[in-house]
Amino acid sequence: MQTLNHDWYHILQVIYYRHTLQSLSVSANGFKSFYGGIVNYERVTNDAEFVLHCELKLILSLTELHPPTVLGISKACCSLCYEYIQSLNKSLQQNGRPTWLIGGKHQKCYLWACPNNTSAEVKVGLDAVRKWVENRILAMLEKCQQKLSFTESPSQRDDDAEQGDDSPMELW
Ligand SMILES: [Zn+2]
Repeated sequence: MQTLNHDWYHILQVIYYRHTLQSLSVSANGFKSFYGGIVNYERVTNDAEFVLHCELKLILSLTELHPPTVLGISKACCSLCYEYIQSLNKSLQQNGRPTWLIGGKHQKCYLWACPNNTSAEVKVGLDAVRKWVENRILAMLEKCQQKLSFTESPSQRDDDAEQGDDSPMELW
């Protein structure tokens, strides 16, 4: 597992710069005014709160013992597990191998962890999850920049923040 960097604004700046080669114009408070759920990230003080979800635990345990099969999970996958498994399945299919079968997915994200080992399969899954998270963050930053570029009164801005399309709790 990787150690959590608690400076969430620095992470946003780095992701934005990597993708656009521009500096982020949204301030930390500007981002917070639209995505108040980011404060949940500040509340996480122990890296151990990030857990390996049961779908991935099963896959990682079974990979050495059994070909991909149906995973009997009673609940829909979270977005991150879903991205991981979809990308892993795509890679398996390309190699003519069977795939992991899962049910649907829901839109929420929870504290999520994956062992950062060197296996090719884990790397495929982690790369897909990283890409998905970064794209979500970029979309949120773009939305913030668009909304903050309008000239509007602080009260209008508060209204927008409450009615944002993405629930801040969903991603964080
Ligand atoms: Zn999950």
